[in-house]
Amino acid sequence: MPTLVKTVKIGIHKEVHAAKWRAILATQELYNQTIAFYMEFFVGHLAVLDARKEVHRKDDMPYERSWKNQELLTFAEVYTLDTKAHPHPLQPLIESLPSARTMPVSLRRAAINHAIGKVKSWYSLRKLWESTDRKKRPPQLGQPNEPITFYADMVAYPDVDLAVQRQVRHDFVAVELFYEGKWQSVPLPVSLHRQAQAVLSESQAESARIHVATSQIKSRKNPKEKWTAEEKATVRPQMWHALSLSLYARRDKQYPGGLRFALHVPFEKWVDAPQKAKTQFATNPGMPVVTVDLGVNRLAVMGAFLNDKLIATKFVHGGELNHKRHLLLNAIYKKRGQSGRLQKDVQDNVNLWEKVRNMDENAARQVARQIVNFALQNEAKVVVFEYLRGYRAPKEKMSKSGRKNHKRAYWLRGKIVEWVRDLAFREGILTVERNPAYTSQMCPHCQHEHREVGQRVKHSFTCLNPNHSYQADADFVGMMNLYCKWNGTFAYPRKKKCADESKPAQAIA
Ligand SMILES: [Zn+2]
Repeated sequence: MPTLVKTVKIGIHKEVHAAKWRAILATQELYNQTIAFYMEFFVGHLAVLDARKEVHRKDDMPYERSWKNQELLTFAEVYTLDTKAHPHPLQPLIESLPSARTMPVSLRRAAINHAIGKVKSWYSLRKLWESTDRKKRPPQLGQPNEPITFYADMVAYPDVDLAVQRQVRHDFVAVELFYEGKWQSVPLPVSLHRQAQAVLSESQAESARIHVATSQIKSRKNPKEKWTAEEKATVRPQMWHALSLSLYARRDKQYPGGLRFALHVPFEKWVDAPQKAKTQFATNPGMPVVTVDLGVNRLAVMGAFLNDKLIATKFVHGGELNHKRHLLLNAIYKKRGQSGRLQKDVQDNVNLWEKVRNMDENAARQVARQIVNFALQNEAKVVVFEYLRGYRAPKEKMSKSGRKNHKRAYWLRGKIVEWVRDLAFREGILTVERNPAYTSQMCPHCQHEHREVGQRVKHSFTCLNPNHSYQADADFVGMMNLYCKWNGTFAYPRKKKCADESKPAQAIA
């Protein structure tokens, strides 16, 4: 069972109070100083990273393993923090960083964990470098510049207000910061977009459920008894569940002080790993499936099948996008023509290119979302695409911008597949690809009796069987034929051409 993680970014409002603004920076500085301190500590105790520990397995067989991060953390705390039992640690943190005295425990632990990670990776790179010929520069440890990581006990999310008419525009996420000389919870104004709000409320409900489930199991069990697999499964997040968040500072001229702050909240969810598409098909050949034909003028033609019957279709048109993109590309090529030769290594028409890229990326995401939603509506567990071959330039005469437009439209299909694969997997839906040969040239109804290639004129397909009068959209035919390829009933044409056609490698998920 895999865990899925997605990160939602929540922007901190531009007009955050100057005192809070300074508090964020002060905390970040202190946090990074703490990391630097512990990095130095571990570099001084590199032997612990190599040390082995003897432990006993369940059957009392002793075996050795290296120290776990949790043990390294305890080790660092013992040697750097003063307690009543040990008032004089070897290398006190307070001496180097007096303001770290009242630092919240979880923030300090986050810093130690960061330091452990950084030193560990540096140390293994260094060992690798030592074992090679040492011609290259040795790996450097460097100075930490990490976003502040807040563990769950340092964050207070707003209680989600489900009323539609909200009086207050700003929501606050409170985090513990070093504010005016002491550690306290500081509410930061954030712009919560609708999705963030939805996912946060889902997370709060899920946390409550896990909390209740955990205490219920604990109350009826003896503490030494092992949890069953079922009990473990019930306390895993089945909905998106927030993990420790980080506060990032990015340079941005439009923000006061030239810094833009944002909270990055990772969300975790467990899903059951779906069985391979082939296995699913073998157990249930009539299973619901969505097939998608991706095109240029129609970005996507989707069809949902159940028990070998088409139950729903959906078309996503792309004519407008193509037209808009063509206009922008025209403008770019016109400007290029006016400015003479392009300079090497200097990007031309930066804003226009960015606009084109954003438009395409946005379209890809939106289409992918629609495809996944369509699959969800029809309860399909598999989405079938045609395998996308490498780009081949059109043979007909075209303007420069027209060619570029054609190429970008082709590239967009790959992007859509990529996004669908990602989004669908989160819902437990698999994406498979099938051989694209003849998908828009065979009649989906009479290919078996009349195995000759049909006629395709631009966007419409006509069946050439004299006993069958059939005309349909070529992309629709492609979508229907993809289903035949999925269930293995597709009949390739009888012509010799078929044998010559080299089949592209099939990607089978
Ligand atoms: Zn036909």
